[in-house]
Amino acid sequence: MPTKTFVIRAHTRTVHTKPLTFTCAKCNQVTTRDVYPGNPPKYCLKCSPPKKRSESDTRPPERGNFEPTHNLVDSTGKVTLVALEAAPEKGWFFVRTALDWFAGESIIKYHKKKGLTNRGEPMAGFVLESL
Ligand SMILES: [Zn+2]
Repeated sequence: MPTKTFVIRAHTRTVHTKPLTFTCAKCNQVTTRDVYPGNPPKYCLKCSPPKKRSESDTRPPERGNFEPTHNLVDSTGKVTLVALEAAPEKGWFFVRTALDWFAGESIIKYHKKKGLTNRGEPMAGFVLESL
C-alpha cells in the first residue's frame, strides 16, 4: 500500500505586540501601550472607548411596571386597562396597553379636546374612564 506523505506546512502567524509610546488624543498624556502592528491606538487605556456589548444595544430602556391609569372602553363595553403617558406633542398622550407598554410609541393617542385616535384616525365609540 503506497503511502503518501502530506506535508503540512506549519503556518504559524505570530502577531507580536510591541510597546508604542504615543500621546493620547483625548487627555494628551504620553502613554505606552502594547499594540499590534498596523493598528496604532489614539487613546490611552483610560480614554479608549469601552467595547460595546451587543446585547445591551437590543435591550429596551429600563421602564417601570405597567401601571394602568384608565379604562379604555369600546362601543361593546369591552374594557382594556391602559396607562396614559405624555406624548412629545403638546396635549397628547400615548394610550398604552400592558402589551405595548414597552413599545417605542403607542398607535393609540388621546387628546383632551380631540379625543381618542388610532394612527391619527378618530376612534368612534371608545371612551376613556379614569380609574
Ligand atoms: Zn487618555
